[in-house]
Amino acid sequence: MPNAPRRGKPGWGDGVKDNGRPHIFGPVPSRRLGRSLGVDPIPFKTCCYDCVYCQLGRTTNLTGERKAYVAATTLIGELEAWLARDETADYITLSGSGEPTLSTEIGEVIAWAQAHTQIPVAVLTNGGLLWRADVRWQVAKADLLIPSLDAATEDVFRRVNRPAPGLELAEVINGLVAARSECRGQIWLEVMLVAGLNDSDEHLRALRDAIDRIGPQRVQVNTVVRPGAEPIAQAVSQDVLDRARQLLGPSAEVVVPRSEHPGSYAPTSGVRDVLALLHRRPCTLGDVADGLGLHLNEVAKHMEALLERSAVRAVVEAGTTYYAAADELPESSPE
Ligand code: SF4
Repeated sequence: MPNAPRRGKPGWGDGVKDNGRPHIFGPVPSRRLGRSLGVDPIPFKTCCYDCVYCQLGRTTNLTGERKAYVAATTLIGELEAWLARDETADYITLSGSGEPTLSTEIGEVIAWAQAHTQIPVAVLTNGGLLWRADVRWQVAKADLLIPSLDAATEDVFRRVNRPAPGLELAEVINGLVAARSECRGQIWLEVMLVAGLNDSDEHLRALRDAIDRIGPQRVQVNTVVRPGAEPIAQAVSQDVLDRARQLLGPSAEVVVPRSEHPGSYAPTSGVRDVLALLHRRPCTLGDVADGLGLHLNEVAKHMEALLERSAVRAVVEAGTTYYAAADELPESSPE
């Protein structure tokens, strides 16, 4: 699940506290989902993968254990309070700061949201647990499932996604195939390309074979936008993205940065607040979340928009990524 912010220290890291934090955030602007209300059922960086490109940093709790990390009653209570304010969104999206399908509560939350709102429900997942029938049963009623598949060989899987012990790619792909036939809604498969790791023609052709077995309605080709967990995670070029779109078949599309669509993204007060703070001092994502009282994922979305517009720059110091307003950095600052 390639969409979440960075932390490096134990617990909430970067100075952010989990105590009493909300589990819903936004709505935040999303390339694919419009205004998306995030529902985060998982503690920070609790995930069955440790992707080299993860914008949240390295996984601190690498696990395949499913449990009620946050109770369904808590998540539903927050959704209820949000709805009571007459708020609306294009999607309610189970996502967040880890892998949402590790939560045993998501089926109940999906069912509640569908019974109490007209807003479609999406699940953003790394897909690593879809081999489990109980996970598929819980996500099957979602209106939209967006799983990831970055690897077609076990070797690439281990180098890019660094899965929890026991997870094997063949099983993951079988789970995606089963999900396609069991899920009520559409499946949009995301492929995150990392330069030099999974972008060769040979690997893309192998991915195409897996995609043909799965049969998703859409394949969305993406690449690294924000600094990832490891410096090795670098973006591929536009030429490689275009080549991948050709090789991955007729359902493939490149996820085009919003910056190429002027006017399709309206800066919210949140994004302006983030920029104002960064004009005062460089901050980590956690600093911004703490300083503005926002969820990390919301900050990450705003930062993505600002990076795409070159309004901010990322600087890595002693392994920690700081963001600063672009005009305050010397030309030689590393990114
Ligand atoms: S699946 Fe990968 S990108 Fe998504 S939260 Fe886990 S480690 Fe990060």
